[in-house]
Amino acid sequence: MRLIFLGAPGAGKGTYAAQLSQQLGIPTISTGDILRANVKQGTPLGLEAKSYMDKGGLVPDELVTRMLAGRLGETDVKPGFILDGFPRTLAQAQSLETLLKEKGINLNAVVDIDVPRDVIIRRLTGRRMCPGCGANYNVNTNLKPKQEGICDKCGKALITRTDDNEATIKNRLQVYEEQTAPLIAYYQKTGLLRTVAAEGEIADIVARIRKAVAA
Ligand code: AMP
Repeated sequence: MRLIFLGAPGAGKGTYAAQLSQQLGIPTISTGDILRANVKQGTPLGLEAKSYMDKGGLVPDELVTRMLAGRLGETDVKPGFILDGFPRTLAQAQSLETLLKEKGINLNAVVDIDVPRDVIIRRLTGRRMCPGCGANYNVNTNLKPKQEGICDKCGKALITRTDDNEATIKNRLQVYEEQTAPLIAYYQKTGLLRTVAAEGEIADIVARIRKAVAA
């Protein structure tokens, strides 16, 4: 199964992708996670990407596309994958199409995770992340850690992502509307688009996504 998860920042793409990945036994490829790992390790890609990420802008298409092409060449993605956070522009969508064509593989579905804007802002401002294992939490939803500020899985102190501050969040939402939202119409034309309302319990939303992609 090869899937794309579309949706605004804070729509919950990472959370639902992690659960669906486990259920389907396929990896999630999050371009945001790969970029953050590069920033943390201080690689040349990370150094270049950081300034865009801190402002809430997009990292240039060419850099992200090259990074994704490398990841799609690894063996664990052979049985399938969930793309979380890529493509984010029409140019990236076109590059992905070319890349998949070269590999002789097709997408099964593109899931648009639909969440009202006020819910998105609540989720983004409450988001906390574990710097050790990458687990995500949210102090404004039922995804709170068991012990305040501490990762349930590895006991590390949780952090707020540097791009989850108010000014950056505003910019990321604007970038989403201008550059990423047009992909909904793009994938609608291909017949691959499945819109899923991300309301209610996480397990129910994941079940809804699973049903939508099987259709
Ligand atoms: P995310 O974790 O998906 O919210 O991504 C965090 C940040 O990484 C974004 O705000 C962008 O700066 C950058 N980023 C992630 N994926 C992409 C992409 N496909 N194209 C450009 N920038 C990206």
